[in-house]
Amino acid sequence: MLSIKNLHASVEGKEILKGINLEINPGEVHAIMGPNGSGKSTLSQVLAGNEAYEVTSGEVLFNGENLLDKETEERAREGIFLAFQYPVEIPGVSNLQFLRTAVNAKRKHLGEPEMNAAEFMKLAREVSKQVDLNPDFLKRGVNEGFSGGEKKRNEIMQALLLQPKLAILDETDSGLDIDALKVASDGVNALRSADRAILMVTHYQRLLNHIVPDHVHVLAGGRIIKSGGRELALELEEKGYGWLGIKDEDDA
Ligand code: ADP
Ligand code: MG
Ligand code: MG
Repeated sequence: MLSIKNLHASVEGKEILKGINLEINPGEVHAIMGPNGSGKSTLSQVLAGNEAYEVTSGEVLFNGENLLDKETEERAREGIFLAFQYPVEIPGVSNLQFLRTAVNAKRKHLGEPEMNAAEFMKLAREVSKQVDLNPDFLKRGVNEGFSGGEKKRNEIMQALLLQPKLAILDETDSGLDIDALKVASDGVNALRSADRAILMVTHYQRLLNHIVPDHVHVLAGGRIIKSGGRELALELEEKGYGWLGIKDEDDA
């Protein structure tokens, strides 16, 4: 589904990604772990098509097509979803309106009929309960005044509504207490399916106790320096990033 070959990317003239190689198949859950500043969010943003990041070389194929040629909106329509590490607030645009527009754009792309306001409201209310968000959040401005945890749950609600082919979740665990982490993880697990792939980006292994990945990769200094199965995340938790010769501010 996703094939990344020797990807290099820069931001403001500084090279951040220095040759990423990654293959993701439908149905798989991959975790990208790594210390702060290693390039995890940069990789997520490059895949989603954020223009602040310049791809200087390499190739990314999504379902066999060159992803890097496509605009952000096109990538979204084709099923790439990014939940931001820092979700954006869009005051004045209701969450409900925003979500319905996104869902209908995707339905249109697939040749499916658009959902009217009443149909969508019914669906959105069900999904909001699934992530333990009060349906009143649907009427508020997108992420406007939401707490950190509410923003994260709102992002997962978006993913559940959009049903993307590839969901990239950047630090979905940050700012969540244990209960919210459980709810958010249940939401992500509900997204798991044979025809969907999930790329989880996380600094900490605790999220991976709830969302068990098929593959784990360690990103450091803009390169994947180690890949393995779930046990790699457990090993990292036990030994810290220092075990791999990487500096991390959270390692004692
Ligand atoms: P991580 O998500 O692993 O913590 P990031 O991808 O956010 O790492 O950042 C990697 C490096 O790129 C850092 O040195 C960061 O300061 C830099 N960087 C990322 N985004 C930007 C940006 N928009 N402008 C300037 N520097 C950036
Ligand atoms: Mg960071
Ligand atoms: Mg980050």
